Amino acid sequence: MNDRAQSGNNLDPWFHHYAERAAGLRASEVRALFAVASRPEVVSLAGGMPFVSALPRDLIQGAMDDVMRTEGPVALQYGSGQGVPKLREQILEVMALEGIRANADDVVVTTGSQHALELVSKLFLDPGDIVISEGPSYVTAMVIFRSYQADIDHVPMDEHGLIPEALREHIARLKAAGRTIKFLYTIPSFHNPAGVTLSWERRVEILQIARDNDILVLEDNPYGLLYFDQPAPDAMRSVEEDGVIYLGTFSKTLAPGFRTGWALAPHAIREKLVLANEAAVLSPSSFSQLVISKYLETADWKGQIDTFRGVYRERKEAMLSALGEYLPELTWTNPNGGFYVWLTLPEPLDSKAMLPRAVKELVAYTPGTAFYGDGGGHQNIRLSFCYPTPEQIRLGIRRLSNVLRGELEL
Ligand code: PMP
Repeated sequence: MNDRAQSGNNLDPWFHHYAERAAGLRASEVRALFAVASRPEVVSLAGGMPFVSALPRDLIQGAMDDVMRTEGPVALQYGSGQGVPKLREQILEVMALEGIRANADDVVVTTGSQHALELVSKLFLDPGDIVISEGPSYVTAMVIFRSYQADIDHVPMDEHGLIPEALREHIARLKAAGRTIKFLYTIPSFHNPAGVTLSWERRVEILQIARDNDILVLEDNPYGLLYFDQPAPDAMRSVEEDGVIYLGTFSKTLAPGFRTGWALAPHAIREKLVLANEAAVLSPSSFSQLVISKYLETADWKGQIDTFRGVYRERKEAMLSALGEYLPELTWTNPNGGFYVWLTLPEPLDSKAMLPRAVKELVAYTPGTAFYGDGGGHQNIRLSFCYPTPEQIRLGIRRLSNVLRGELEL
């Protein structure tokens, strides 16, 4: 069966009509299980949903009312394909917290950073191109890269993030094989799914490697401001302007329901990104942008980020202490920010094969295999601590330990 045929199934009369690029858009068996896992009695440590209940809804309501009263016709209209100028200025203030100095002219507002990933891929990827990324990497970025028929090359990480020496070796091997490397996709701060943060020294070294090899860096940074103790090192874009496309979002510091993120691109690329944005959506949501802009103007948004930090810190601590209590023989990462812990299982356990049993025991997680494009990750699990309460997290880890013990006795 070819890829095209695999993209459909025999219940879909159109399956042989799909473009080749649709082959990667397949519902995984994991996705089917997640439908079951959304039942209220299941503790889900699987999703990456921000805890939006911690937001001041009255302030957001106030911002919406204000926008409707004072700028209603603008909010309800199509807008600029690059985004509302005032919001683009405010985005500079957000990025300045991570050492970035930029011009609002180089910011392109997108429908979440997910859509920025799509636009960058559309601009750069031809079939057979290589995207280098950390192994593991963000699953829905890989879905996009594959939909443009690029191949993903995973470079390993350790507790300090992507390993520069390994990156050099991979680039040399790929070049020797005649492959075209289009960009390095990286999540340097509070990685999804690995939970680790790239050190400052490595940020500088990796930028140098990229420069030496003429490789664009796509820096995806949704979690950078959600640190627990120490801030992450400054963004890679703070060092290098010309070779980095930086992606930011309001999804984790405010709310994903606004579907508003942005790309900060080198000036030449920015032009193309705006054209691609217009071709895809005409303009990002005027309504969302104006409400966010009003919120940033009138609310203590930095204080709100502190509130989120407190919530997630407590949940991370609940998760690590439950892991220490119930699964002391396993190893896991200790994130200093973000939403995720990366767990390593002992041989011969297989995280994907174990998931149906876990769901039966009323706990869900994401198997490590979801985060590799090359079949790796069987021995890993991504655990999210962002959404469940500390009590639910403890319960979930206790259930997970029962599942593991049951599997090991088999
Ligand atoms: N990149 C990473 C690493 C993410 O974890 C996410 C959300 N889970 C996104 C991008 C997309 O975020 P959004 O489109 O909501 O900005």
